[in-house]
Amino acid sequence: MTLIPQIQSKLPNTGTTIFTQMSALAKQFNAINLSQGFPDFECSDELKDAIYEAVKNGYNQYAPMPGIQPLREIISEKIFNIYKRKYNPDTEITIVPGGTIGIFTAINTVVNKGDEVIIIEPAYDSYLPAVQMCGGKPVFSSLSYPDFKINWDEIKTLINPRTKLLIINSPQNPGTSVISKEDLEMLDKITAGTGIFIISDEVYEHIIFDNVTHQSLILNDNLASRSFIVSSLGKTYHVTGWKTGYVIAPEPMSQEFRKIYQYNAFCSFAPAQWAFYKMLSIPRTYKGVSKFYEEKRNFMEKLLKNSKFKVLHSAGSYFQLLDFSEISTISDFDFAVWLTKEHKVATIPLSSFYHNKKDDKLIRICFAKRNETLEKAAEILNSIK
Ligand code: GLN
Repeated sequence: MTLIPQIQSKLPNTGTTIFTQMSALAKQFNAINLSQGFPDFECSDELKDAIYEAVKNGYNQYAPMPGIQPLREIISEKIFNIYKRKYNPDTEITIVPGGTIGIFTAINTVVNKGDEVIIIEPAYDSYLPAVQMCGGKPVFSSLSYPDFKINWDEIKTLINPRTKLLIINSPQNPGTSVISKEDLEMLDKITAGTGIFIISDEVYEHIIFDNVTHQSLILNDNLASRSFIVSSLGKTYHVTGWKTGYVIAPEPMSQEFRKIYQYNAFCSFAPAQWAFYKMLSIPRTYKGVSKFYEEKRNFMEKLLKNSKFKVLHSAGSYFQLLDFSEISTISDFDFAVWLTKEHKVATIPLSSFYHNKKDDKLIRICFAKRNETLEKAAEILNSIK
């Protein structure tokens, strides 16, 4: 008899990510897909031309492990222009195949067995399994509800000598809030004199509204010196499928990061790197993104003004939260499934972003969609009483 090997799961309590589940359900029921965050419109012709050109020019083999030099240099320049800090493109900037792998690698770089990691919820769903795979111990704090602000008093009580890492995210997904100057000061104060590293997930840094300036951790000397900052080019340029982002960190941290990165992805897709290099050389290509999405946010808010859903104002990212408590008392997951099957609009239930499935009767919608798509979706949502 053949002995069939049994896997001892590293993630026994983890299922398939909610993004995959809801996008599959949307497809199965032919629903408008406002669940997983991605645009349903095309990127610019400039960007398309740039990638065709890269492919035609023969940039089709492995890129250097940390990313092509010109892209790292132009990112360093962009960071300097915006945040006035110089990151060395050779030693402190690494191009990666998307924010998620950047976050995963950074977590693996610093977390050892038994280390405590503070995760602020609702949290993007990749943080927790990455911590668990390293044998880290997740410790949770919740953002306030309904304004999704960080509870610094609670975080202070969670910090102890075993705390190795704190993960922060602004603009927040799915909470749609952004951190303020005061938040940066608090974070500086409570981490001063500790051995705590920070991962700052800033993948929506170029999607922030109402004339608010993005408070990157790069802006604070002390915080920058202990932080991995993760950003995304796919999100900024409407090409999530190109899976390209970058991670910046001081040299010793980047060095360890790269040791791990070279053995999980090694490098990211070369033609996209050349195309993004070209685009980042033209600052208007990323400077207009906030305004573009702010118009969509406003458009959707207006369309849903008289609906039974309550729209929570989004300060950044391309998501909005809808409170459905006036419509139903069923769980947010059941509500999202019902909405997809019966009304053909797919969304994401917010409980998926809490380890204890906290349910505030909220669903997340992605407004990175053509106005016709938003109109069609809003018409359906408005008809639900
Ligand atoms: N970041 C995207 C979102 O929040 C999803 C990314 C993914 O599906 N892994 O919807």
